[in-house]
Amino acid sequence: MSQYKHVALIGLGLIASSISLAMRRVGMEARITGTARSKETRDTALALGLVDAVFNTAAEAVKGADLVILCVPVGAMSAIAKEIAPHLSEGCTVSDVGSVKQAVADAIGPHMPKNVHFIPAHPMAGTEKSGPDSGFASLFDNRWLLITPLPKSDHPAVERLVRFWTALGSNVELMEIEHHDLVAAVISHTPHLIAYTMVGVADGMNRVAKTEVVNYSAAGFRDFTRIAASDPTMWRDVFLNNKDATLEVLGRFTEELLALQRAIRLGDGDFLFDYFTRTRDIRRTIIDAGQDTEAADFGRNKPEK
Ligand code: NAP
Repeated sequence: MSQYKHVALIGLGLIASSISLAMRRVGMEARITGTARSKETRDTALALGLVDAVFNTAAEAVKGADLVILCVPVGAMSAIAKEIAPHLSEGCTVSDVGSVKQAVADAIGPHMPKNVHFIPAHPMAGTEKSGPDSGFASLFDNRWLLITPLPKSDHPAVERLVRFWTALGSNVELMEIEHHDLVAAVISHTPHLIAYTMVGVADGMNRVAKTEVVNYSAAGFRDFTRIAASDPTMWRDVFLNNKDATLEVLGRFTEELLALQRAIRLGDGDFLFDYFTRTRDIRRTIIDAGQDTEAADFGRNKPEK
């Protein structure tokens, strides 16, 4: 059986609302229950029809569910796992969408009863927006969803979760948990940190006026600001919980930055040219893989035909 009958979404922000909308889009008939920390979010989720019923606590929201997905910041996972554990149905699957996997597995795993399947997962899709009204049904279309089964994970339960995410539009891959955290550090976590840093640098440069930073931002800075507008709670938790992999990638980044700095100082144009040629090729492979549009300026300003 591929479909779940009752899905509980714990946390009702960007990812949870997109899961709900994607489920409805493909006609999944599962009952959806949910909860969030604030009454405002719970009320909005209900008003938007993201859930069939909303509850004040996670413990109530998971009752009777055969799939529970924790969609809260990484730092909140442990307390929620502890809260829901006594209320989970026998044989249900508990998963999550946290951006870090080892720390989340360590936070949730010890609380899980033996008669439930705990299977960590991470959609490689998102935006800088948060909250229940930021989701959209196509968020996962042709984006990768990484499942990091644990050594004891039940194979049919994993296969069922794969079918669920595939139905939502994702390409699903199973990955070893430690490798996931390194991959995420390279393609997501460190780029976010660099964007946060660059925006911080521009903000702190008192020789360049704030109006200049804003007015001339289309020259490149603007693309950093989109990433650097991402949710502070989520990203604080990501760095606190993917420390080793992020520090490893940052170490490499610092070395490469120093090499580029040296080339600029020495006037080594060949080094810079070769480096930038190599990086441009990576952009080409991302477009060829359908993971971004070829349109100039990320498709924002489509040229008039
Ligand atoms: P979001 O839009 O900020 O939503 C987070 C939700 O969690 C909100 O409903 C919030 O409730 C609730 N929440 C926060 N702390 C809570 C707590 N202590 N107890 C109960 N509920 C709590 O976040 P999101 O972007 O959907 O991210 C959710 C998860 O997905 C995170 O683990 C993140 O790492 C992961 N993820 C995010 C992205 C992305 O691009 N955003 C991509 C992949 C994975 P209130 O609204 O009431 O505060």
